[in-house]
Amino acid sequence: MNNQKYIALVDCDSFFVSCERKLNPELNGLPVSVVSGERGCVISRSREAKKLGVPMGIPLFQAVEKYPECIYIPANHYAYTKISKKVMAVLKEFSPNIQIYSIDEAFVDFTGLTKLYNKNYYELGLELQKRVWDEVNIPVTIGVSPSKTLAKLASDKAKNTLYRVALAGNRTGIKLLKRTEIDEVWGIGRKLGVKLRGYGIKTAYEFTQRDDAWIQKRFGKNGLVTKKELLGIMISPISNEVELPKSISDSKSFLEFTSDLEFLKNELSIHIHSCCKRLRKVECKCKTIGVMLKTKDFRTYYEKIDLGSPLDFEFDISKYAFKLLEKMYTSSNLYRSVGVVFEDFTQTAQEQLLLFEDNPKREKNEKLGKSLDILEKKFGRNIVRTGFIDKEVPFKQGFLTTPQDVE
Ligand SMILES: [Mg+2]
Repeated sequence: MNNQKYIALVDCDSFFVSCERKLNPELNGLPVSVVSGERGCVISRSREAKKLGVPMGIPLFQAVEKYPECIYIPANHYAYTKISKKVMAVLKEFSPNIQIYSIDEAFVDFTGLTKLYNKNYYELGLELQKRVWDEVNIPVTIGVSPSKTLAKLASDKAKNTLYRVALAGNRTGIKLLKRTEIDEVWGIGRKLGVKLRGYGIKTAYEFTQRDDAWIQKRFGKNGLVTKKELLGIMISPISNEVELPKSISDSKSFLEFTSDLEFLKNELSIHIHSCCKRLRKVECKCKTIGVMLKTKDFRTYYEKIDLGSPLDFEFDISKYAFKLLEKMYTSSNLYRSVGVVFEDFTQTAQEQLLLFEDNPKREKNEKLGKSLDILEKKFGRNIVRTGFIDKEVPFKQGFLTTPQDVE
């Protein structure tokens, strides 16, 4: 097909570890894990660390005890952001049409580049991989395909290949779909995987064999989008030039020290509301949140959680945030401040590929979130609180934290 489009998903390998190795080449070949702050968890592992068995998300104190051979490095998000920008600049030089998806992932439009570079689509992947390595010293895995969903699958499969580049065209795509478990498909999580298996659908291929009406009835419009994308029909195009914020945060010091958990939750919910409002304003959702808790004697606790799916609604996010808060909270401590950090953003408009489960509920929440914003505009800030008793404890004008400040 002449006007067939091709998209590459470029994914940096163990990105934070690769950044540390770029800054300190002596780490090459050694088991290395990057940890989110001094009391944090493992958030990136080298191949050698994975081989040792270091699990993702393990708290540092446990990791050190169980895997003492591994080197643990505190995350330097500032450096990673800078390196990420350099990687993205190389991609942009290669193709004018790219969409940055996260700090270490981007879609790159390959359509028409075969003529420009005189290479086929697979060779284009190899060439781009080489350029990123030569110019920034960051290894990348690349999946090339006619649609984003298939490109994502191809890049996952490429991880097990020698050159870490994989092409899933119209014919090879079908083979790939047959070998792909249904819950490995982008946007189909464990929960939806179980539901699909209940219908006898075990592989991505089996999903694409169901007819449109059947899928639409059970999984809505987004289910159909996923089916088409799996079949190599691009529904979600590359949208470029959108700079998403790196993180949004909010925190404040209390006027008086407190150990009252309900008060902390109430304060936290105010910060969550403020961040959600800012998220909705830029039409983004976040996939990771962190909660920061500072004691009277300036000990800082910080816990982060992957939300599983992108969220922008107060009630949804509070559930996770309160769990983090409760994990760090001790009633014998006096606290001086609490805060929240949102990270890992996706554009709401780009989200149709993700999650077609719980659609009606999600849509309702989205509407509710927007109504909150309208009400506030009319009646003033914090007119609506998300479900907590508002204790009349005044607080000082706060400060703004970033993840780096927190750690
Ligand atoms: Mg990656």
